[in-house]
Amino acid sequence: MTLTRAERTTGVLERRLFGPGPSNPYPEATEALARPLLGHLDPAFLEIMDRACEGLRQVWGTANRRTLPLSATGSAGMEAAFVNTVAEGDVVVVAVNGLFGERMCDVAARCGAEVVRVDFPYGQPVDPQRVAEAHPAPKVIAAVHAETSTGVRSDIAALGELKGDALLLVDAVTSIGGSELRADDWGVDIGYAGTQKCLGVAPGLAPFTISDEAFDRRVPHPRSWYLDLGMLGGYVGEAQGRARTYHHTAPTAMIASLDAALERILDEGLEAVRDRHRRAGETLQAGLQEMGLELFAAEGARLPQLTTVKVPEGVDSARVRAHLLEHFSLEIGAGVKEHASSVWRIGLMGPNATEESAAFVLDALGRAIR
Ligand code: PLP
Repeated sequence: MTLTRAERTTGVLERRLFGPGPSNPYPEATEALARPLLGHLDPAFLEIMDRACEGLRQVWGTANRRTLPLSATGSAGMEAAFVNTVAEGDVVVVAVNGLFGERMCDVAARCGAEVVRVDFPYGQPVDPQRVAEAHPAPKVIAAVHAETSTGVRSDIAALGELKGDALLLVDAVTSIGGSELRADDWGVDIGYAGTQKCLGVAPGLAPFTISDEAFDRRVPHPRSWYLDLGMLGGYVGEAQGRARTYHHTAPTAMIASLDAALERILDEGLEAVRDRHRRAGETLQAGLQEMGLELFAAEGARLPQLTTVKVPEGVDSARVRAHLLEHFSLEIGAGVKEHASSVWRIGLMGPNATEESAAFVLDALGRAIR
């Protein structure tokens, strides 16, 4: 690997993280990490926590009072969602059109669910009607809003209309902060996300939201102590204005970083930020097609923040990615499973969601495959 002189002397290696995540954080989020550390029950920290929870409500599009950053990555958000709502034998319908839908099936089954899996081809969105008809009375219907493994967006609003008495559980790891997300209007009862994609923060927190109704229908004594939402209430938002109780040591630096990124996003304006993601993705996708490459995700369901593109015939996918890393300090991702060597995944998320970034990656990729 070739390091620049600055990198050799400072020991700092700066990558342009244009893969499926983590993405480069907003500078405000990085600066917040370097501030003097606060204790987790310090009133100054609690103010930051309250503000971060309020910012999360805005990006989720919810008024849920139980909206909080869980102290772990997106997969812990997934575990929290299922372990708190699924008891032994409960029926859970899972829409599967990629790796993260598959992971949901595994997690739900470990919680004792009777999993009814509804499969769709990788690269296609889920069909809400087929999902809703898969079982007459499930406790939970689960779907991934933005499948990072394939670059596909599914219609959560339509699922919300068809969910009946089921609780709608949604993975918004890659959509939050980058796509339209209206949890309350769409009937989302439980949602989890991650910080490392369009929110522009390092990995380490799982923004989580649960409606009052879903909270009332939760498993009273879930098998996870750490992720028990009944116990987490005292740690965060639920008791706003009241004394916090210790549950675990909140990752104060990470929450300050999240707060700073949310402030950055809300200052720019949620709509403006989403529009920036849309323009960047469209520029990239148009440019790739102009280069003669074929997009993988179905037209009409393509995520702007995560583009999947087929590796051209005769091109060594891994060699190109290694070349981009070495010569441009640019990371892009491989495809997943049987698409590992035939698809690339290119993320333009958070601060990287710009038309300049799209032009940069188009230029670099064009040179690498030449
Ligand atoms: N769900 C989706 C859609 C994801 O993209 C990811 C991670 O990329 C996860 C869940 C898991 O999140 P984490 O890797 O932060 O645990």
